[in-house]
Amino acid sequence: MAFQYWNEAIETMPRSELESLQITKLKEVIRRSIRSPFYKKRLAKTGINTPDDIKTLNDLKRIPFTTKQDLRDGFPYGFLSISREEVVRLHASSGTTGTPTTIYFSRDDLKQWASFMARCIYSTGCTKADVFQNMINYGLFTGGLGFHAGAEEVGMLVIPSGSGNTARQFRLMQDFGTTVVHATPSFLLHVESKMKEEGVSRKSLCLKRAFAGAEPYSEDTRRRIEELLGIDVYNSYGLSEMNGPGVAFECQCKNGLHIWEDGYIAEIVDPETLENVPEGTRGELVITILCREATPILRYRTRDLTGFIPGPCPCGRTHRRLYRIAGRSDDMLIINGVNVFPSQIEEVIMAIQEVGNNYLIEIDKEGVLDRLTVKTEVTPAMFMDDTRPLNALKEKIRRTLQTSITLNPRVELHESGSLPVSEGKAVRVKDLRPRDL
Ligand code: ADP
Ligand code: ZN
Repeated sequence: MAFQYWNEAIETMPRSELESLQITKLKEVIRRSIRSPFYKKRLAKTGINTPDDIKTLNDLKRIPFTTKQDLRDGFPYGFLSISREEVVRLHASSGTTGTPTTIYFSRDDLKQWASFMARCIYSTGCTKADVFQNMINYGLFTGGLGFHAGAEEVGMLVIPSGSGNTARQFRLMQDFGTTVVHATPSFLLHVESKMKEEGVSRKSLCLKRAFAGAEPYSEDTRRRIEELLGIDVYNSYGLSEMNGPGVAFECQCKNGLHIWEDGYIAEIVDPETLENVPEGTRGELVITILCREATPILRYRTRDLTGFIPGPCPCGRTHRRLYRIAGRSDDMLIINGVNVFPSQIEEVIMAIQEVGNNYLIEIDKEGVLDRLTVKTEVTPAMFMDDTRPLNALKEKIRRTLQTSITLNPRVELHESGSLPVSEGKAVRVKDLRPRDL
């Protein structure tokens, strides 16, 4: 495979040079951070008062972690390190786990972000000949404008379609010959179901690739989208605190996401002890952003669970790769004392062929015990004849889940297209248990 690089010198830079570059940039970040009210106070306690107090990357560890709560406490301008007049844009997180947080950008920050995004898009083989339909929310959410700017930088024809309205999405795809789309994986599956329903054939479209991210999904879900739509799907990871998309992205090898280490310093820590874990071990991703002047954030605890994949990538890029993000440490469900991640359930059900494109996990109470119900859609072909195959499928899902998560769930089968679809991030878990006050 011939690999193309947006910025070859940076993307294939020897690790020792890459680390020197990180130190140089980190010093600059420290110089700026001290100008923000939050870090001025926080850094004073650490003995890091000037950029010269940073000599090696290890010195970063003297700085305490920054948490989502810190960002909320600093709302609205506690993290701003340039004057208000230099700020040209703000974005906010989706607020999946509580009050959203706000991030500010200078003109130069937006340029840098677009260039990281262009690097991601280009690394999957896209060129300016491509037509790119951005099927994700625009607005405060970073996914829309982030990809938009990067795709324009590559020179693709960009269709800012936003998410939702599948009939209109199909029309745009057909009218303009869309070759690449960006969406959440759940929306891509929904698009595929709608194609069948509305009689849109795969042949009437020119789709070749999709970028899927903003929410966790399994390798089986990726494969399913690839097979159903006949395209390549690339995993895209980012979070608004770190600009949004453009933090880590899969290259054409599709084996882990390169985290751009000239823009971000990544660490993996044990979420309990907060100590760094060895390469190959999974833990919580902690990131320091090097490519934004307006809102510096040092050692941010993302809560996202992943790890560094050992060894080099055949594509020649030297920036380390992250495992597919399994979800957040705070996604973990405790059901009758057993710890379960929604991603474990997805992994099991999406590997079963007869299972359709959407599912929902519900937990409620039955007496004193927790009750887990897994609702899955089934492929349209399944609802035709007698109920025997349905019962057999139900039993197969139940048994496979029981083996994998050691809980015995109730399984409900639903007709294709009948479970709720979200236009933003999918809501996969409904926890209906009464909360202790
Ligand atoms: P919020 O934290 O409110 O959801 P964001 O819109 O900033 O706000 O979402 C970022 C989060 O989305 C990440 O921290 C991560 O949990 C999740 N996420 C983004 N991309 C991926 C991906 N490719 N795989 C798994 N999770 C992802
Ligand atoms: Zn690679």
